[in-house]
Amino acid sequence: MFNESRYGAAAGGGARKQGWTATQPASETQVFAIGGNETTLAFVNSLRPDGAGAVTATLIPIARTPLGIAVGDGRQEVAIPLAGLFEWADRTFSAEDERAFITSMRDLELLARVGWDSRFPDTVDERSIVNLEDLPDEVADGLAGAPVALVACATCRRLCVRDDFIWKEKQLCAWDYHAQVFGRRGPWHEGPYEERHFETLPVCSYIADPLLVELAVEPVMAGGELPEATARAIVNLILEADAKRPHLAVRTALGLWVLREKAAPSHAQE
Ligand SMILES: [Zn+2]
Repeated sequence: MFNESRYGAAAGGGARKQGWTATQPASETQVFAIGGNETTLAFVNSLRPDGAGAVTATLIPIARTPLGIAVGDGRQEVAIPLAGLFEWADRTFSAEDERAFITSMRDLELLARVGWDSRFPDTVDERSIVNLEDLPDEVADGLAGAPVALVACATCRRLCVRDDFIWKEKQLCAWDYHAQVFGRRGPWHEGPYEERHFETLPVCSYIADPLLVELAVEPVMAGGELPEATARAIVNLILEADAKRPHLAVRTALGLWVLREKAAPSHAQE
């Protein structure tokens, strides 16, 4: 049924995976991961074709963030002829796409032979995936987290976690938010903030240190659960102490951060 030319070398895992083929209780809610790419993971929970010879693949969106992969809470079902399932997987998760991967088509074929049939779980997580060990580590790690709402970044259209990074009322991905808010045109400030400034600080879920490096920005205060008045006082102490250098306070889910432009020849004071 399946052409295994692409994955033949990797096939053969079926015999090692005890307990999930013909002996699987019908009441279990389990899925087999077929493959994935930059934005999607595909699963099947039954390989018993319907009257038209089709099975249902369920697509789940994913977002790649600086913290790893976030799995979306949406689902989309696609009917695929069982006889064409491998070709569909090979086309959807093409070898030319470096982010794409595909699991063992041999295992999929074995499941099809026994008419594997399970119910789709409420949440696809580590426990409900029968071939978790075939997934890339970053995907398996992402599936360990709770599903979240995903939206498209207003700038690059990349999928990202909703509400993590909003700037000027636009949903952005971490990369575009960091570039826009912490880049040269961001709301930098020299000298202490007035109280009213604290009401309009940029807000985001988290700051990703690696994304600051290329912006020539460094954190000098990184969150902390402090009373607001204390945090503001510390921020202003920092800004007072180096009043000619641009600083930027940012409100994150883990408290106030203060960033400053790195002292470098290209950023010399004017
Ligand atoms: Zn973006």
